[in-house]
Amino acid sequence: MFQRNAPVRGLAALLALSALLFHTSCSVNPATGKQQLAFYSEAEEIKLGKESDEEIVASVGLYDDPELQAYVEGLGQQLAARSERPNLPWSFKVVDDPAVNAFALPGGYVYVTRGLLSHMGSEAEVSGVLGHEIGHVTARHGVNQASKQMLAMLGLGVAALLDEDLAEWAGVASVGLGLLFLKYGRDDERQADDLGLRYMTRAGYDPREMPGVFTVLQGVETVEGAGRLPNWLSTHPDPGARRERIQQEVAALPGDFSTATVNRDGYLRQLDGMVFGDNPREGFFAGNAFLHPEMRFRFEFPAGWETSNEKTSVSASAPSDDAVVTVSLAEEATPEDAAETFFAEDGLTQGDVWDKGIHGLPATWSRFDFSDGESELSGTVAFVRHDGKVFQLLALATPDQWKSSRRDLENALASFSRLDDAKALNVKPRHLRLVKLPREMTLQEFDKQYPSAVKMEILALINHVQPGERLPAGTLVKRVQEGG
Ligand SMILES: [Zn+2]
Repeated sequence: MFQRNAPVRGLAALLALSALLFHTSCSVNPATGKQQLAFYSEAEEIKLGKESDEEIVASVGLYDDPELQAYVEGLGQQLAARSERPNLPWSFKVVDDPAVNAFALPGGYVYVTRGLLSHMGSEAEVSGVLGHEIGHVTARHGVNQASKQMLAMLGLGVAALLDEDLAEWAGVASVGLGLLFLKYGRDDERQADDLGLRYMTRAGYDPREMPGVFTVLQGVETVEGAGRLPNWLSTHPDPGARRERIQQEVAALPGDFSTATVNRDGYLRQLDGMVFGDNPREGFFAGNAFLHPEMRFRFEFPAGWETSNEKTSVSASAPSDDAVVTVSLAEEATPEDAAETFFAEDGLTQGDVWDKGIHGLPATWSRFDFSDGESELSGTVAFVRHDGKVFQLLALATPDQWKSSRRDLENALASFSRLDDAKALNVKPRHLRLVKLPREMTLQEFDKQYPSAVKMEILALINHVQPGERLPAGTLVKRVQEGG
C-alpha cells in the first residue's frame, strides 16, 4: 500500500449498472459474425470498461516505467488495428503486479502484469497474449459475462452478502466490479486463443511462438505455485491442453513464417532493470506482522488470518470470514478531521469516542455500528498520526463476532508502531538484468558466473531453457539481481 484510500463501492456500481438491463437487444458479434444477445450498446460497453479501468488503475496501480508502458501500448495498438473492432478506444497498460496475468475489460481496456512480462521471451509471445485479450474484447466475452452475472444477481434479488459488504467497506476487493469480467468459459478461452493467433499473424508475428506462452504458464503453475497464476489458471483452463490445440492450429495455418517477426533480443532489452517478484518497498509480511519501509510503520494482524497487501490498503480477514482488520491512509491532516469524514458516511452510528495514543503516536478512537437496512456490522476505527500522515486502522465484524472478539480486534489496532529496524527500512526489490553471454555456456554455468537471487528452476523458467542446455555466445540471458 502507498496510495491514499479511494473507497470503491463495488455493489453500488453494480446496482447502477443493472439499470442497463432494460436495454436488451440482439446484435451481431463483430469477431465471429454470429447473432448474440447483448445487454449493452457499444457506447455502454465503453463506459463500463472506462469506469472499471479507473478502479483498476487506482487499486492495482500501473508499473512506473513510461518507456515500457509506451512499448506495450504500441504493440497492443498495432494488433488491435488489425482486429474486427479497430475503432474502440483501445489502451494497453502494464500493471504493477508480480503475478503472471493478463486481462481485458469491455470497451478495449487491456492489461498485462509486470510478472507476465518478466516471464515472456519474445515480442511475438507478448503479441500472442495481447492478441488473446483483444480477442476477449472483440468477441464481446466480457460483455456477455457481465450480462450473465447481472441476470444471476437479479435472480438472487441482489442479496447483499455480508462478505461483500465487509470487503467493500474494508477496500479489500476494491477491483470488485472489474473482477466480474475475468471469468470466462472454456469456449471463450478457445475462441480468444484463435483470435489472438489471427491478430498476431496479421501483424507479421511468427505464430509458432504462441505455444511457448502456454509452456511458460504451465511452468509457472508447477514451479512457483498456483498462486502466481490467479486468472490464467482459474479462467484460462489447462495450459497443457491449450498448447496442444494451438500447436495444431499453427501447423494448419497457410503460408511460410520463416521471415515472420519474433524479436527476442529487442523484447528482452525492454525488461532490463524491471522489478522482479514482490516489491518489499510497498510493504511485506514477516509472519503476521506487516512492515512498510516507505511509510515506516509496523502492524500486527491476528495470527492465522488471511492477509492481503493492496495498493491502497493492507488487510486481513478471519478464517471464518466474519471479521476484517485493515490499515489504510486517510486524506485528512489530523486524526480528528479524518474521523469526521469517516462518520459522514451513510449508515454509520458513532458510539464511544476516546483519545488514546498508540505507541506514543497521537490517535483518536471510535466505536461504531453500521446498517444499510440489509446488513449490520460493528467495529472500531482508530485514526493515528505518524510521519506526517494520518492512518486509518479499522476493525469490522458481524455483530455476533464483534461481541466475542472486540478486545482482540482492538488489540490488533493498537499494535501499530513506528518501524525502526534498519534492515527492514533498507530492504530493496529484486530486478531483472540482461546479460549477453561472452561465450557458450549452460544456464548452470551462467548462474555460477552471474548468480541470481532466485532458484535455478525459476531462472530456467523465465529464460525458457533447461538448466543443462548449451546457450551460444551472444545469447541474452535474464538474471535476477538482489537489491539491484
Ligand atoms: Zn482469456
